[in-house]
Amino acid sequence: MTTEKKASDTWRAATRSVRGGTKRSGFNETSEAIFMNSGYVYDTAAEAEASFDGSGPERFVYSRFANPTVAMFEERLALLEGAQYCRATASGMSAVWNALAACTRAGGRVVGSRALFGSCEFILTTLLPRFGVETELVDGTDHDAWEKALSKPADAVFLETPSNPTLEVIDIKFVADLAHKAGARVVVDNVFATPILQHPFELGADVVVYSATKHIDGQGRCLGGAILFNDKEWHDDHLTQFLRHTGPSMSPFNAWTLLKGLETLSLRVDAHIRNATELANFLSAQPQISKVIYPALASHPQHEIAMKQMSGRGGGLIALELAGGKQAAFSLLDNLQLIDISNNLGDAKSLATHPWTTTHQRVPGEDKLTMGITEGMLRLSVGLEDIDDLKEDLFAALNV
Ligand SMILES: *Cc1c(COP(=O)(O)O)cnc(C)c1O
Repeated sequence: MTTEKKASDTWRAATRSVRGGTKRSGFNETSEAIFMNSGYVYDTAAEAEASFDGSGPERFVYSRFANPTVAMFEERLALLEGAQYCRATASGMSAVWNALAACTRAGGRVVGSRALFGSCEFILTTLLPRFGVETELVDGTDHDAWEKALSKPADAVFLETPSNPTLEVIDIKFVADLAHKAGARVVVDNVFATPILQHPFELGADVVVYSATKHIDGQGRCLGGAILFNDKEWHDDHLTQFLRHTGPSMSPFNAWTLLKGLETLSLRVDAHIRNATELANFLSAQPQISKVIYPALASHPQHEIAMKQMSGRGGGLIALELAGGKQAAFSLLDNLQLIDISNNLGDAKSLATHPWTTTHQRVPGEDKLTMGITEGMLRLSVGLEDIDDLKEDLFAALNV
């Protein structure tokens, strides 16, 4: 296996997305190959011994540790993110869990923002405490709350920005500066912004996690996750132990699917944003809709910081509130002919969901309201269809 072309530091983002990490086998295939194998063979017993005691050259020994197709995905995403290292995982949640587990231990402390994806919230409020880790959630937009929570030492800070589904935007640099003074590693869930819009490492993040299931695949085909970082010591001493010995490995087939997803990521994200920007304005003008939350709208509560840290763009997701509450929200969903009711996001197909009764069903009502989720709220993941078809579908469903 040879690296045909060394990814040069001078390659721009689009070139890295298409060619970064490509390694060709002896067959000189054009597209990346799928190495759908679990193990590897050795020419001699001594070679096997040297591979295990670390004295031999670095090579693949078992696909739970590393695999050529997965390695190509990791290298391509690392190049795109501007990170030194990337480890792929089976899902976004295994990326979040392993990244946090590698930062803390019993007796440790983790501070997070309150507006989180449902399973991330579960890890912080339930799973980590079960292992003896103290956790605290704060309003991510409240600078005083961060200052207070980080006046005590912490192992990690976890935040999601923009958040799911209320699109709250957190000032990453502000939190990272405080977190580092408290001795914490900053883990940023960058799913909603994608590697195209937001570069958390430039703002002080130590670890970036992705659900590759979302925009990186972007076509509803497979699950995947990624952990990106620059601190090799943290990886070697902590993260790699979790990954090797608990085995949340990405399937080589999924890695191949996601490699192909990366090739078109920036084109798709641009198109998602074009449609979302137009729809956010369109929805704002509809009398049945009392509120539209979209970071690029001047009415967004953190509009200024959003534009500063998200390359001046709003992303592909919109939250909206129906004046008629849950009944109106359900009626809108049920009357859509084109847009699907689905809780996935970042897909080529436009998808709408009612967070109160689906993604955040398990969260107590009072907490949902604190997070800004109301019964009349819908989350819209804007797809790649023709914008006029999307507008017509929403208009018809609003006006039955
Ligand atoms: C979907 C999602 C996750 C979890 O990813 P999976 O691939 O579904 O495990 C984590 N964080 C955010 C913000 C998400 O949207």
